[in-house]
Order: sequence, then C-alpha cells, then structure tokens
Amino acid sequence: MGIDFEQLRKQMVEEQLVKRGIDDELVLEAFKKVKREKFLPENNKKYAYADGAQLIAAGQTISQPYIVAVMLEALEIEKTDSVLEIGTGSGYAAALLAEIAAEVYTIERIEELAVQAEELLKKLGYQNIKVKLGDGSLGWEEFAPYDSILVSAAAPYVPQKLIDQLSVGGKIVIPVGERNKVQRLKVITKKFNGKIKAKELEYVRFVPLIGKDSWR
Ligand code: SAH
Repeated sequence: MGIDFEQLRKQMVEEQLVKRGIDDELVLEAFKKVKREKFLPENNKKYAYADGAQLIAAGQTISQPYIVAVMLEALEIEKTDSVLEIGTGSGYAAALLAEIAAEVYTIERIEELAVQAEELLKKLGYQNIKVKLGDGSLGWEEFAPYDSILVSAAAPYVPQKLIDQLSVGGKIVIPVGERNKVQRLKVITKKFNGKIKAKELEYVRFVPLIGKDSWR
C-alpha cells in the first residue's frame, strides 16, 4: 500500500504547527498546499511529515516544518512582497514562500542542489521563484531591496549586505550562533530611521552558512 501523504500532511499541520501556536493563516495555508515529499530523496520520502529535519543531497538538510513555520510567521510576509531566501537546499522553503509572497529569489552555493531545486520548482509550476547559484552571504543585489529575507543556514553574525538589501520596514530571520552547535533565531527589523531592531526566538540547529561574509 502507498503512503497517504495527503492525510499525513494535514496531520503535520495540526499536530506540529497549529498545536504549537502557529496561527498565521497565510503560513498555514502554504503548509497545507506544498507537498514536502516532493523535496526529499526517494529513500527519505517516507519521513516527509516526520517532526524533524531530514537529509537531502550533498550532506545538507531540509529543515523541520515547525521551525520553517516559526521563521515564516516571524517575517510577517504580505502577498505583494518580494522575498530573498539564502540556502535553497531542496527548494521546500522557497515553495512555501512562493505560496505567500509575490516574488521569491533564492540562492544556493552547492550546484547540485541549486540545479535540482530549480528543475523541481519549475516542474511544480512555480513561476514566481528565481534560483541562483552563488554566495548568499553577499545577498542578491540585482533584485534588492527585499521586504523579507529568510536565511536558511546558520551564521556567526548578520551579514551587512543583507541589511543593506532589506527594505525599510522589512525583516530578516536568521539563525545566529556557533558553527555546528546551537544557534538562536533572530528577527531583525529595519526601522524607518535606518536603525535596526533585533528580537530573539527559539534555539535551533542549522547547517552552516559558508561564504565571504560568514564562515569560510
Ligand atoms: N531551505 C532549505 C534548507 C536549506 S539547508 C530547504 O527548504 O530545503 C541550508 C542550505 O544553505 C544548504 O543547502 C547549503 O548548501 C546552503 N548554503 C550554505 N551557505 C550558503 C551561502 N553562502 N549561500 C547560499 N547557500 C548557502
């Protein structure tokens, strides 16, 4: 018998997201729509709705659904927004973002992942996602400024270029901390006077952001 992914997805949204306090309707709708199993390698599809991160290619991971939901909720994305994601990985978070925002730009440093994610997202019909192979610690100047920036890898500090490429009133969500250890999710808001406001959320564990303005 095949796995009833539809049922598992509904359950994941209820048990892992709603029951833990995620209540942003746009975020919940996105999680109800995007089929996480599509973003996992064949041998891991059965864990698509398990409550944790899973291995994808190149030793990288697709994040735990709940943590992605916390990050998306914290960004307070609106339908007309243009969003930048650093760390495309499987493309799952990019697909969720594309369900909510108008335009999504996502950067990945590992070619194999960038190519796979771009093909998959195209196959799934997303026309509002652009994938680029490159170093996201430097942002993506071409389409800046962004209303929201989601950093899907852990950094030692918030890279300055990301702050520069953020709209006034916009937010960055980023795990900041030690490499291969625990980090803390930070929400950075760029205020109208140009100053930065920072708030801290949960403790998390992400793969490292490797780049010119991060770990080498
Ligand atoms: N959002 C992804 C999870 C990504 S895991 C998903 O939904 O599947 C973090 C990813 O960040 C990895 O694929 C890693 O290769 C990538 N990464 C690390 N440093 C990077 C950098 N400087 N620029 C772009 N991507 C980077």
